[in-house]
Amino acid sequence: MMMRAEEDNYNLNPPPWLIPMLRANYFIPCSIHAASNKSECNMFCLDCSSEAFCSYCLLNHRNHRVLQVLSSTSNHFFLSYQFTQQS
Ligand SMILES: [Zn+2]
Ligand SMILES: [Zn+2]
Repeated sequence: MMMRAEEDNYNLNPPPWLIPMLRANYFIPCSIHAASNKSECNMFCLDCSSEAFCSYCLLNHRNHRVLQVLSSTSNHFFLSYQFTQQS
């Protein structure tokens, strides 16, 4: 009886950005801003769901929901939610 609720949890559909987020490459130099400091790609945009990007690229994602990846290993993701609301 107790197992029923847990099984239901596995049937929840993941949000559409989850797989692209997990597959993106983080902590590599940004191809556009490689010459700058702080050009490590540790941001991911939930609205664009494409590739990881750096803090300079963040300007292209105004009013998007952006996650900052603090660190990642093959098994764990440490995320900080940074829903940017620049106007
Ligand atoms: Zn960049
Ligand atoms: Zn975006």
